[in-house]
Amino acid sequence: MTEKEFKMAIVGFGGMGNWHRELIESIEHLQVKGVYDIEEERAQFAESLGLKAYDSFDAVLEDAEIDLILCATPNDVHKEVVIRALNAGKNVVCEKPATMHSADFEEMMAAQKTSRLFVHQNRRWDEDYLTVREILKQNILGPVFKIESRVHGSRGIPGDWRGTVEHGGGMVLDWGVHILDQALQMFDGKVKKVYATITNVTNELVDDGFTAQLFFEDGPVYTLEVGTSNFISLPRWYVLGRDGSAVIRDWDLSGEVVRVTNWDKNDAVPIKTAAGLTKTMAPRTEDTIKTEKLPIVHSDIRDYYRNVMDTIEGKCEQIVKNEEVLRVLRLMEAIFDSVEKNQVVDFE
Ligand code: NAD
Repeated sequence: MTEKEFKMAIVGFGGMGNWHRELIESIEHLQVKGVYDIEEERAQFAESLGLKAYDSFDAVLEDAEIDLILCATPNDVHKEVVIRALNAGKNVVCEKPATMHSADFEEMMAAQKTSRLFVHQNRRWDEDYLTVREILKQNILGPVFKIESRVHGSRGIPGDWRGTVEHGGGMVLDWGVHILDQALQMFDGKVKKVYATITNVTNELVDDGFTAQLFFEDGPVYTLEVGTSNFISLPRWYVLGRDGSAVIRDWDLSGEVVRVTNWDKNDAVPIKTAAGLTKTMAPRTEDTIKTEKLPIVHSDIRDYYRNVMDTIEGKCEQIVKNEEVLRVLRLMEAIFDSVEKNQVVDFE
């Protein structure tokens, strides 16, 4: 753990900028000194909290006390803020998606000379995601052949910059970047092929939802879905293995694992439906399966910033590696490519 006291400035003090400020209040050795936002009202809000309101981005860069800059502007502004901050020798935490195109992110990575760039892929600390990883690690379900990861809302795409192309809107860039990052962290192998479709239910300009299938080499088929017109939500996670299934229904981590305990007893009573008979779809009897609790994993999101500070001090490795961020941006490009061609595309 660092001994140094880090001082941070927030550039873009909207909803997420303020979320970071609140979080940082409970992190030792890190303090928010001030903010820069183009909106006067946000500057006044910062001052009402006792923070310095810088009158330009240059003023932030010139403040020798600032060790770390958080970029929490809309997505199209990230590249410029990050490159200028790195050129000024400041360390940067950049909100996700790091930027809108992988080629831009390569330029951002290359601007690290005396300081470092970190991308805020905070959903690596999501407890539902960590619990799925734990299920795989403990091999609870036997060989896993299918994973479905979904986030469903019913409010349409937000009416702010997220609904515009020029500011980097759309759900692939917004929520996709989180669940795609989780998918790539879940398995070591390459993603050989990708197939994706998008929806435009509440917005014609950008995607307001998407479904993507990733075909991992020697791994499962991984389905990802973001929806904003889902008045009935499907579970957050659905995982199928040879010997059992797991479901995590929601952010509250409700769900369970069901495993087969007796393969030999096969006395299925056929189900009679109005128009036919099925033995295949007859439910298993209770004495051949066991329902178990999820192996819940807890996390502390403050570890993100602890890792940032320790990495800057050379005390540990960066958890969210920039090469991993670049791979996710490239995967998003493959998704758009698949959508445009309406076909399966090669990825790695
Ligand atoms: P927001 O619209 O609430 O806030 C953006 C702020 O940036 C606004 O106050 C705006 O005035 C300001 N701004 C715009 N251009 C600027 C510029 N050139 N210089 C300084 N300030 C500028 O948006 P938000 O929801 O806070 O999203 C901000 C970023 O955070 C986005 O990149 C978004 O994808 C990301 N985000 C991440 C998470 C997460 O969980 N990691 C969650 C929400 C948003």
